[in-house]
Amino acid sequence: AASTTARREGFDFSLGPDVEAFRREVRTFLATHVTDEVIEAAHRTGTVHDRGLHQAMAEAGWISAGWPAEFGGQGRSPLEMNALTEEMYLSGAPVDGLGVASLVAHTLLIDGTDWQKRTIIPEILTGRALCCLGYSEPDAGSDVAACATRAIRDGDEWTINGQKMFTTLAHEAHYVFLLTRTNTSVAKHKGLTMFVVPMDRPGISITPVHTMGGERTNITYYDDVTVDDKYRVGEVDGGWQTMMTALVFERNSAWYGELVRLLDHGLGWARSAPSPAGGPMIDDPLVRERLARIAIGNEVSNLLGWRAAWMASEGTLPGVEGTMAKLFTTEHYQFAGNELIDALGTAGLVRHGDPAATAADGWIEAIYRHCQVTTIYGGTSEICRGIIAERGLQLPRNR
Ligand SMILES: Cc1cc2nc3c(=O)[nH]c(=O)nc-3n(C[C@H](O)[C@H](O)[C@H](O)COP(=O)(O)OP(=O)(O)OC[C@H]3O[C@@H](n4cnc5c(N)ncnc54)[C@H](O)[C@@H]3O)c2cc1C
Repeated sequence: AASTTARREGFDFSLGPDVEAFRREVRTFLATHVTDEVIEAAHRTGTVHDRGLHQAMAEAGWISAGWPAEFGGQGRSPLEMNALTEEMYLSGAPVDGLGVASLVAHTLLIDGTDWQKRTIIPEILTGRALCCLGYSEPDAGSDVAACATRAIRDGDEWTINGQKMFTTLAHEAHYVFLLTRTNTSVAKHKGLTMFVVPMDRPGISITPVHTMGGERTNITYYDDVTVDDKYRVGEVDGGWQTMMTALVFERNSAWYGELVRLLDHGLGWARSAPSPAGGPMIDDPLVRERLARIAIGNEVSNLLGWRAAWMASEGTLPGVEGTMAKLFTTEHYQFAGNELIDALGTAGLVRHGDPAATAADGWIEAIYRHCQVTTIYGGTSEICRGIIAERGLQLPRNR
């Protein structure tokens, strides 16, 4: 009977008055704080984080909004928090600092010690501490369990030596969430241990890496870095499990907001740019078809994201569903970037900031370069497909 009713009346996709009221509150806040200067600075430096905005978010209680009162939070639901993330992306806010810090805080809540929950989580939630992720190495990217950075124990102290590739935000962070090798005589994923290492420890050095997509990331080196055992997260040699928890928090459809912004740039260009046939480009059926395809994919991305958020609100970790949202959203992001760059022609090659950038002020060119990396970090598309096939569809392992 329920499905008959659904067929007759359609599904109700509205999120309810609480989520919508919270969304309006967030939107008002962001309209004041996400200024053109904030957006331009992130674009210019490649650091997708703004200290002033982050502090303002902390003071408004947004960083801890989804946390229970015992952590100073407002107990907002996963649906409300998804609305907050969506609004941040829609506003163009530089969000990486907040995203990584939240991911680490949530992982510490599950796998951290009482001391870490009492000390590090509050530092993160009040905006005093930022984190970066130290997983990838020159020879351990997708195969992250091949991690070679060594941590050796001596009593209550560990000494860490190694190198991490792509430690984004290391130059802003107070902690690195670090994957290390603690055992070489067991299967590779059984000999890993996670730490949350203060970045001011002697022996840590940072070299910047500027990427094609405009983002600044880093190589980080660990040279006889010593840390107390209280910075270990999870069991000794149990780091793989902690990594799996952290990765669930990283895979979602957060880029949906960027897709909407990209479509807006495309629409703005199509409405104003003259077509060789006379009238604006939006009168060209091929341009309209490209824009329509982008809009349809955006809608799918949005729904996949909300499905994962709904599962989280029901108390489930949406491992496979979040991966589906990440995979679809990032591949559609590239599809949309390709479509618009093709439609713009040579005007699409001029960069934002160049006085000659007339088409969408150069933003489509910038987004086209940036979207390329989104199918690489947080798990490449091939890795995501493997997870969906093996864990979602129970197909045989591919390796
Ligand atoms: C801008 C940027 C920022 C980043 N930030 C961070 C960060 O903050 N912290 C961090 O730890 N890492 C970060 N990374 C690293 C990122 O997570 C890795 O680049 C990613 O995991 C892929 O690893 P890799 O580059 O070594 O490529 P590889 O793993 O060598 O992959 C190369 C190709 O082989 C494919 N492949 C690999 N294994 C399989 C398989 N089993 N089945 C099918 N295909 C496979 C991949 O899909 C890919 O196409 C960042 C990367 C970039 C580009």
